[in-house]
Amino acid sequence: MHEWEEQLRALLSDKRVFTELADRYSYSFDASFGEHLPEVVVQPKTTEEVQTIMKIANQFGLAVTPRGQGTCLSGGPLPVKGGILLDMAQWPREINVFADDLIAVVTPSVLTADIHAAAENHGLMYPPDPSSAHVSTIGGNLAENSGGPRGLKYGVTKDFVIGLEIVTPEGEVMHTGGRTIKNVTGYDLTKLLVGSEGTLGVITKATLKLVPKPPAVQTMMAAFTDMATAGKAISKTLTSGVLPAKMEFMDRACIEAVERYRPSGLPTASEALLLIELDGHPETIKLEAEQVKQILLELKADPIITAESDEEAQKLWSARKLVSPAIATIKPTKISEDATVPRSRIPEMMERLKQIKEDYQVELVVFGHIGDGNLHPDIMCDQRDEEEMIRAEKAVAEIFRAALDLGGTLSGEHGIGTMKAPFMEQEMGEVGVSMLKRIKEAWDPNNIMNPGKIFAEKGQKLVLRDG
Ligand SMILES: Cc1cc2nc3c(=O)[nH]c(=O)nc-3n(C[C@H](O)[C@H](O)[C@H](O)COP(=O)(O)OP(=O)(O)OC[C@H]3O[C@@H](n4cnc5c(N)ncnc54)[C@H](O)[C@@H]3O)c2cc1C
Repeated sequence: MHEWEEQLRALLSDKRVFTELADRYSYSFDASFGEHLPEVVVQPKTTEEVQTIMKIANQFGLAVTPRGQGTCLSGGPLPVKGGILLDMAQWPREINVFADDLIAVVTPSVLTADIHAAAENHGLMYPPDPSSAHVSTIGGNLAENSGGPRGLKYGVTKDFVIGLEIVTPEGEVMHTGGRTIKNVTGYDLTKLLVGSEGTLGVITKATLKLVPKPPAVQTMMAAFTDMATAGKAISKTLTSGVLPAKMEFMDRACIEAVERYRPSGLPTASEALLLIELDGHPETIKLEAEQVKQILLELKADPIITAESDEEAQKLWSARKLVSPAIATIKPTKISEDATVPRSRIPEMMERLKQIKEDYQVELVVFGHIGDGNLHPDIMCDQRDEEEMIRAEKAVAEIFRAALDLGGTLSGEHGIGTMKAPFMEQEMGEVGVSMLKRIKEAWDPNNIMNPGKIFAEKGQKLVLRDG
């Protein structure tokens, strides 16, 4: 047995240290691509245990990859350099809501949906709502700076974190921020750590900001026969003085896939479907809904549906939630992208995506959080088909290029991980990436924390075929 394994077993006992192939295999993948076996899986349950693990890792030069629930779409929790897989999902789940301060203090293993429920019990709301909220951990959300439909009005995870407890790559404990909404003491390390994809430390506790839960919501759906008009509806609504909480989009391929998968009464002849949610005081949203309806009528959206009850609203939202399982029936491999563009460029981006679909003959479907310009162009393909995967790789590279050409970004919410690392310089430039590397080197001199993520290895290309 390696000395490091002896030390890990002495710390956590045999019950929380796994070296059998079958156990390691269970931690070798996420919701994206690639399979990488860790040498050992450990399940820490306290900050002190994480500290000791980090010290062992530094002593023996082992990589450490934190993992929440493995729902990442960019390869973040893949142990690409082997080493220690830190299973953070077994950590005791604790949510403490301090209603008078409008904050919640949570442990990293807590599922996001449980934070939503705990906040609601106090008449409060934790706005970030990734579609994976029922299965992903807050630790993963923090590391990826996850977003969701409500990002349009409220922002993303970063906007709701005011304090963190972190174990640094060298095994020290550090607290950033605090429990106050305003805090300008020193550099904002909280914001640096959120979205750092597990490369700068292990998050062991977080203090989250809550807001009053809006007393009422109103859901609307509108269908369009062309994308350009749907684009006008988006910009006219967003400049009308009304800020919806959510504005989601499905293209025709998604509509058809949902109707094949579970008929939901969606208009299959439409090219674009918008789902809008307004929230606020009941009297205010009544007026706002009328204002939005007028815009949709002027643009000849058909049909326009205003949900009359919670059940009707749930039915409309469940159609949107069915997109992921429905498109998975098109082909077995899903390449889920999250290119994001300025909102005025959405129609151009949609044109570019149409062209990419034709040029590379790929099954490209588009849905997403269109109100904030965050599209999900997903390519459905078959990983066993080498020739198709080469076309998919080229199409993905073109999607990134299109987003950057239009003043957008590679990733609105899924992170860089391994999947987008080769494209970082195209967005941030040489100096930008070099500055990120210098920060990483200062935090993690032995390159222990989640190596192989964000920064491309020399000559690294996008390859979706490595199993
Ligand atoms: C069906 C589906 C829908 C999704 N919808 C959305 C969406 O709407 N919006 C969105 O943004 N994303 C979405 N995602 C992506 C994914 O759910 C998020 O990135 C989520 O935050 C990952 O959480 P996780 O617990 O699964 O973390 P993992 O996938 O296990 O890990 C993600 C990253 O976090 C790091 N990490 C995990 N825990 C810690 C910790 N305690 N300390 C430091 N680093 C840590 C890992 O190293 C890794 O880099 C979706 C995924 C799926 C499969």
